[in-house]
Amino acid sequence: MHDKIWLSPPHLSGNELEFIDDAFQKNWVTSIGNNIDEFENDVRSFLGGNIEVCALNSATSAIHLALMLLGVGNEDDVLTSTFSFVASANPIIYCNANPVFIDSEPETWNMCPVTLEEAIKDRLLQGKKIKAIIVVHLYGMPAKMDEILSIAEKYKISVIEDAAESLGSRYKGKPCGGFGQFGIISFNGNKIITTSGGGTLICHSKEDKNKAIFLSTQARDDAPHYQHSSTGYNYRMSNIIAGIGRGQMKVLNDRIQARRGIHNFYTALFKNIDGVDVFTEPNEDFYSNHWLSAITINSEKTGKTREDLRLALLNDNIESRPLWKPLHLQPVFSNFPYYGGQTAENLFNSGLCLPSGSNLSIEHKERIARVLKDFFKHS
Ligand SMILES: *Cc1c(COP(=O)(O)O)cnc(C)c1O
Repeated sequence: MHDKIWLSPPHLSGNELEFIDDAFQKNWVTSIGNNIDEFENDVRSFLGGNIEVCALNSATSAIHLALMLLGVGNEDDVLTSTFSFVASANPIIYCNANPVFIDSEPETWNMCPVTLEEAIKDRLLQGKKIKAIIVVHLYGMPAKMDEILSIAEKYKISVIEDAAESLGSRYKGKPCGGFGQFGIISFNGNKIITTSGGGTLICHSKEDKNKAIFLSTQARDDAPHYQHSSTGYNYRMSNIIAGIGRGQMKVLNDRIQARRGIHNFYTALFKNIDGVDVFTEPNEDFYSNHWLSAITINSEKTGKTREDLRLALLNDNIESRPLWKPLHLQPVFSNFPYYGGQTAENLFNSGLCLPSGSNLSIEHKERIARVLKDFFKHS
């Protein structure tokens, strides 16, 4: 059997150990220390500087804190993309609020601005209080931010950007994560760079950052003893983990170029295969980090389904994965409202993510190309 080709494995640089070692040397094996400060600085300057960054143990925690800082609570509505990973919506439940799911538009696969406004109007008619919009930039593709921000402004609703998958992506030249009141980035093991597990909350004031640190370190009041007047969480990033992050930030630009190169590899490969589309930026306003390369398969034209292809790849020990199952179709969210049609559902039924790791070798690419060509030969 061939060795396994993973969808999106970690890709370490060798720089990480130096920073971990430094933490050991100085005995900062805790949730404060130089690595945390410097990692936050690295992310901050990468995103252009005029933001504040709070390092946390996950992006899921970051979304939860963003919702809390916006005062989301009991029975509030939070509108979010249905076409996403479950972590875009779970923190809404942690706040006892209602997730309201919005369909995608076909160009970016992200939240459809037209459907968003329809949903807002309908929820307001029903007397609901809409506290926030969580907009996701899926697979690194920026959402249509101009349209979404102008709707949010019109109805005075705060925006949280779930940029978990889109570190390094840009919309009209501006980095994803910096558009909303809050942004979040994930450093989970499968993302474009990793700290093994971790996330950052992006804020626009020192005050918000300080509140996020306060809540993420058990909401301890200023007193010599342990004194608490609100409920806190244990969400802060550890100084060891932040050391991995510092090493990874040094190679982020290389990783983005490598992932974009893999997207080009698939684009060339499928150029002459009728009925397969590689997910690509609609125009120059959008710059994707191409975290995962994805395709959609027209089964009428090819005579094949995405499941047929997934199994053919698996047969050669190559991992691939269906696109996200829309959240409104997940049993855990079956009682919450959904606005839209079949766009996200059709993507789920016809789409597949292909191996996209920045450490994909030439041999692995050749193997993938062979299986894909063979698979579509008879279509
Ligand atoms: C990975 C991911 C998250 C959660 O990130 P964690 O750091 O694993 O908590 C949230 N949203 C999206 C879209 C993701 O892909």
